[in-house]
Amino acid sequence: MLYLSEINDEYFTIGEIGFNEEMESVFSDREVIWADVKSIQFSKSKEDVVIHLNNGEHFHVPVDTSGLVSLFKNMPAGLNTPEQTVFIEQIYSELSSCKVCGNVAVWQNQCNVCHTDQDDVVNSDPKVELENIKEEQLQLFATYEEDEPIDWEFHIDPNFKRDPNWKLLVNEAEIIEFSRENTWEEE
Ligand SMILES: [Zn+2]
Repeated sequence: MLYLSEINDEYFTIGEIGFNEEMESVFSDREVIWADVKSIQFSKSKEDVVIHLNNGEHFHVPVDTSGLVSLFKNMPAGLNTPEQTVFIEQIYSELSSCKVCGNVAVWQNQCNVCHTDQDDVVNSDPKVELENIKEEQLQLFATYEEDEPIDWEFHIDPNFKRDPNWKLLVNEAEIIEFSRENTWEEE
């Protein structure tokens, strides 16, 4: 699965998550400097975006790849075409709120900030949906060491508006308890 991260106006990271022989997840990623990008264009079907580099390399990025909307927001204006501008404006107008992190950053069901697939959360039973949101929020705010403070701000992304109705459904004690059981390094 591809992802885009660390996106700013100088560079971005394009990465892939795979599995090794022990079925552990492995990340391979690569930093791409905007100055090395020749073009970014939607394919005819608009199902993926093709990134061409000046050295002749190119990448196909499916439109439901998390981070793609942030990529457009940081793309140098010179890489854009008038037709593409219209389509990107349309994408911005279609963004909806993420139930997990509260950013108005969901497109094609993917949150471009916390990378949650909204299909993993939404449920016809509101009780189940609430539990799903809590579970995702626990993972989002989890710490990795016992003395690490919770970072309450990291999901605030200057590229996106906030949904004023969003609420954090888990408290500090629940996050610490979840982290102790799941994400802290074994002693
Ligand atoms: Zn989110």
